[in-house]
Order: sequence, then structure tokens, then C-alpha cells
Amino acid sequence: MIIIHSAHDMRRSAEALRREGRRVGFVPTMGYLHEGHLSLVRHARETGGADLVVMSIYVNPTQFGPNEDFEKYPRDFEKDRRLAEQTGVDILFAPQTDDIYPDGARTMVEVEGLGRLLCGVSRPTHFRGVTTVVAKLLNVVRPHVAVFGQKDAQQCLMIRRMVRDLLMDVEILRAPIVREPDGLAMSSRNVYLTPAERRDAVCLSEALAIARRLIESNQTNAADIREAMTRHISARKTARLDYVGIVDTENLEPRTRVTRGTLIAVAVYFGTTRLIDNMLVED
Ligand code: AMP
Repeated sequence: MIIIHSAHDMRRSAEALRREGRRVGFVPTMGYLHEGHLSLVRHARETGGADLVVMSIYVNPTQFGPNEDFEKYPRDFEKDRRLAEQTGVDILFAPQTDDIYPDGARTMVEVEGLGRLLCGVSRPTHFRGVTTVVAKLLNVVRPHVAVFGQKDAQQCLMIRRMVRDLLMDVEILRAPIVREPDGLAMSSRNVYLTPAERRDAVCLSEALAIARRLIESNQTNAADIREAMTRHISARKTARLDYVGIVDTENLEPRTRVTRGTLIAVAVYFGTTRLIDNMLVED
């Protein structure tokens, strides 16, 4: 595995690989890797047909709000390097902020509207930071295919939208959510949880399972489903609900009936740690 720190070197390597006819897959992350991240690497190869995978590790300052955890976001480059190599990453791109935000950078990429819904209510500047950094990383790496996790459903949707709107020449794939044995969606932020919070954190996936059971028994009233999910989450001592969203998967507008194409998304605070999870209703 090759490690590259400069955007200039990354661009040169990517150009050479494209010229050789290699199909380049790309997996952007903020590091502190877990099985969820590593599954994206395999997805790039198996579903995306990539014969070479670039993974980036960059904790992007512009997607953190002023009172969020940018400084204390967990970082462990040595462990990440080992896991990336074991999983078959070919190039690990770990840029410095000077390269990603050249002095005086003023340009941000914003997908209008969508970034103010769901997670955007409590994190109003988050998604413009995400779309901006992903646009920059795609410009440097120039992959044929890039893979994002369904865990961050709103992010995935907005990146697809950005790529479409800006006529970017890259295929965006969405990989399934990887979970801990008890159902908690894997996240770098799970390390912040106290033992009591960790026990309660399973309430997100449990609430989604409750929604699934209701839908399977033909209860499709969104208000009733939201109520059942809210009740379940609120029963946990350390949990403070941010939202339960029952929305259209494309425009994120609220739905009153759950049908095909509905996204059920949930966000819950445990102390200052905010966890998310979601489920797509496909049939
Ligand atoms: P992050 O490092 O949290 O910015 O995540 C980097 C990528 O990994 C994003 O595309 C996430 O959606 C994806 N990801 C994070 N957690 C999971 C998970 N549990 N399952 C699948 N993908 C994930």
C-alpha cells in the first residue's frame, strides 16, 4: 500500500493509473476505521468493479459546527494504516488541511434545501462542509467509482445530487449499513459512549425494527410509526431524541403514509454524542 500526503502527488498517481486503464475506486473517510469503512473498500471492488482502491483519511474541519467534536474526534493513523492495508487498499491518501483548503479558500459547494432537513436542523452547516470536501477529494482522485455508506443516508443522497447537478464524471455507490452484533450501527463516535449509554444506544436499531414490524403488519400511518419509535427511544434513560424522520428518499419531504421509497431515519443524543441510523422501505 502506498501512502500519499500531498494532493499534488495524489493527482499525479491517479492520472497515471487512469492512463494505464485501471478502474479506480474511491472510499472517503474521516479515519478511526471500523468494519463499516472496510466494507466500502470491498464494495468498491465487488460491486463497483474497481481494480484499485484509494481510501482517503481526512477529518474535515468545515463539516463540524462550532460546538462539535472536531478537536476531540478520534484519530489513530497507525491502526488505520494497518487495517487499510489488510483490507487491500492500494493508496491511502491522508492530506493536510493546507492542501484541501488553500490559504484564502472561499468556495463552498452547497446542495440547496436538502442540507437543512433531518440532520441539517441540528447541524445547519454540516452538509455544505461534506459536499465541499467530497467535491475537492473527487477532483484530486478523479475515481471512476466512489462508495459511501447507507449509514449516512442524507449524505449519500446529497452527494449523488451534487454529482448529478455539477455534471461530475463519477459513479456513486451506496453500501449497506454494518452493525455490531446487538444491532448498533458501527460508528467512529461509538467510542465516546459510557457503558450505560452503549447499552441504551441499541434503541436506534430497535426502534427501526419496531417500524419494520409495523409496516410488515400493514400499518403504514407515519404518525403512528413515529409515535411507537419515539416511545421506545424515550424509555431509555440516557437517550435524548433528536428526530425520527419518515420522509421521501429523494427529496426528504415528510410522508404521511409509508410506502416504497420511504426513508425512516433517526438521530439520538447520548450526552453530547449524537448517533444516527436509518432504514429504506423498498417493498
Ligand atoms: P466517516 O469516517 O464517519 O465520515 O464515514 C466514512 C464513510 O463510511 C461514509 O460513507 C459512511 O457512510 C461510511 N460508514 C460509516 N459507518 C458505516 C457503517 N456502520 N456501515 C456502512 N458504512 C459506514
